[in-house]
Amino acid sequence: MKRFEAVESPYLVPFDGSFDLSKTKTAPPAKEIDKKKNKKHLAKLVEEFAQLQEVLYAEDSYSVLLIFQAMDAAGKDSTIRAVMSGVNPAGFQVASFKQPSAEELDHDFLWRTAKRLPERGRIGVFNRSYYEEVLVVRVHPEYLEGQHLPPHPKLDKLWKERYASIRDHELHLARSGTVVVKFFLDVSPAEQRRRFLSRIDEPEKNWKFSAADVREAEHWSEYMAAYQDALRATSRPWAPWYAIPADDKPFMRAVVADVIVRTLKSLPLAYPKVSDEARAELQALREKLVGS
Ligand code: ATP
Ligand code: MG
Repeated sequence: MKRFEAVESPYLVPFDGSFDLSKTKTAPPAKEIDKKKNKKHLAKLVEEFAQLQEVLYAEDSYSVLLIFQAMDAAGKDSTIRAVMSGVNPAGFQVASFKQPSAEELDHDFLWRTAKRLPERGRIGVFNRSYYEEVLVVRVHPEYLEGQHLPPHPKLDKLWKERYASIRDHELHLARSGTVVVKFFLDVSPAEQRRRFLSRIDEPEKNWKFSAADVREAEHWSEYMAAYQDALRATSRPWAPWYAIPADDKPFMRAVVADVIVRTLKSLPLAYPKVSDEARAELQALREKLVGS
């Protein structure tokens, strides 16, 4: 089977550890801020995505895992909704990962997500993922106490070991035919603040807001350090990260959909071939149906 390799993009996180989060743009290039054009582009990509998903499903060999990570209010939920809107619901599953349960904490940190990996022919979407274990847990190392780990190395080494576990896990997935593509929706603190304010000011958005979001935003620079290290350590040709400017939603969604569509196109997908024998049998059945 042909091994998947990352598709090119200006937002592809390099594989050599040189990713610099302080240099990424959270806003799109000025010439690409065109709401109408981006929405139209997205609609076309959503259609293409739906067709490609059908072949993926029919072939039943590769599976696709799309991972979304971001700060609060960056637009994970709405991007997933917009990008998947044309796809046959039978062919994909979304899993959202929040604070782990007691049962989950009693297992290694890849256990709960492993249970939700997509079957062959399917698309799995992770809204947050095992990356939380090197992001929120790194910003709040006190969460490790709840994990009942045996004596472990100092924290710096622990995060490095977790990156290695994640790389190994993703390479294993790639070898067995899972195409892993990861999106970091890169929002600015100013845009996040604006979205928080509208969640407070507009009653129908109140439910989306929580005081905890503001508390987490206060750790912005620690989160950015954690994201930078995690993306450097785990963006690889078989499991690439894309850091997508997230301040403009129509642009962001179109870029995400474009990466997904080009990724699927890069796979040697084809409808299963029907043998001459099976075709002859179909023909015989046809004649029977017509004659009856
Ligand atoms: P939304 O706010 O859009 O509904 P969300 O993904 O932010 O979606 P919340 O219930 O607000 O969902 O938050 C989930 C929280 O769980 C996040 O703060 C996340 O960092 C945290 N979380 C996820 N995985 C882990 C983990 N393994 N250990 C500790 N906290 C985690
Ligand atoms: Mg939240």
